[in-house]
Amino acid sequence: GADAAAQDVHTVRNRAELVAALTPHDRPRIVKVLGRIDLSVDDAGRPLGADDYRDPAFNWPAYAAAFDPATWGRKPPVGPLEDARLASAKAQAARVVIAVPSRTTLIGWGPGAALVNGGLALIRVRDIIIRNLQVSDAYDHFPAWDPKDNGHGEWNSEYDNITLRQAEQVWVDHCTLDDGPRPDSAEPLLLGRPLQRHDGLLDITRASSHITVSWNHFRHHDKTSLVGGSDRHTEDEGRLKVTYHHNLWEQTKERSPRVRFGQVHVYNNLYLIHQAAAFSYSIGLGHRSAVYSQHNAWQTPPELPASRLVGVYKGDAFEDHGSIVNGAVVDLLALLSARQPTQNIAPAVGWRPAPGPEVDPAEQVPSRVRAGAGAGRLWTPTAP
Ligand code: CA
Ligand code: CA
Repeated sequence: GADAAAQDVHTVRNRAELVAALTPHDRPRIVKVLGRIDLSVDDAGRPLGADDYRDPAFNWPAYAAAFDPATWGRKPPVGPLEDARLASAKAQAARVVIAVPSRTTLIGWGPGAALVNGGLALIRVRDIIIRNLQVSDAYDHFPAWDPKDNGHGEWNSEYDNITLRQAEQVWVDHCTLDDGPRPDSAEPLLLGRPLQRHDGLLDITRASSHITVSWNHFRHHDKTSLVGGSDRHTEDEGRLKVTYHHNLWEQTKERSPRVRFGQVHVYNNLYLIHQAAAFSYSIGLGHRSAVYSQHNAWQTPPELPASRLVGVYKGDAFEDHGSIVNGAVVDLLALLSARQPTQNIAPAVGWRPAPGPEVDPAEQVPSRVRAGAGAGRLWTPTAP
């Protein structure tokens, strides 16, 4: 957006203005978000909920009865009720998923800038900056039932707060990403499984590359940041080059991040884990991942062993240099190997980060990241 002409610099206060400002064209642009924008509203700004998007043929009791594994079995849902769910989901997506075109700077203008009840999609685009925005509660009113997921079936939601697919040269900086006032933990069970309403906070998939994720606050979320969506996406090989630095990961349950294929540099991040019971792992090593971890800091409760901070999901290499847990230097790879002696994790990932900005000593990470990460921190009130 740096080269935007005056006509391509927009200030937006509601969904309609935001969508108009993001109308596709090839020129660089800057879009300044003022205040809190609800993405789930009609063109007149009236809030829209499940009943507004729902196809008349869809309802949850009928859906759950139709696809109960006891009678339907483990085959994927098909038929009029599934068609009605898909139509409902399509109506919601058309409203709440906002596409960001190439050569855009989208920036929260002031400390209270937020996008709520939806998310941003960066798909087949390049040269995008997203800064100083809270993006909250990309809530799925019509999650899908996958009868084979985890063996017993799971509900899966569709929306990420920010999703990147085939995106190139993207910087996400000083954002706060969360589920807002509707955590999945408050959802009821349906078909015996939690009704999942949120997917990723920031997912980077489908051969995206050259992405920097810095000084963001990820908080109170399950599947937080996925790099690489499937072992079958072999086009991701040589792509998915991502840097995560100075992010605050506050009680994120898993995928902080979880990586397939990519060369991913994870440095100077602060992980705050308050409850071991609501925690799975921080950094996930997936198929053909090459994660270079450096000077990260974890603050964990006493009952959580440091061997659980890295999870292995078919990954076979990992490097960490100088990370600390509760102030003490740890050897994450040695702890991991001791916990899972049958996993053979190579101690070298085959690449090194290029020389760049200085990496902070790990012991400075907790105070620096606490003071600087998240939306609103770029704005210091100044005396008139
Ligand atoms: Ca999912
Ligand atoms: Ca996702």
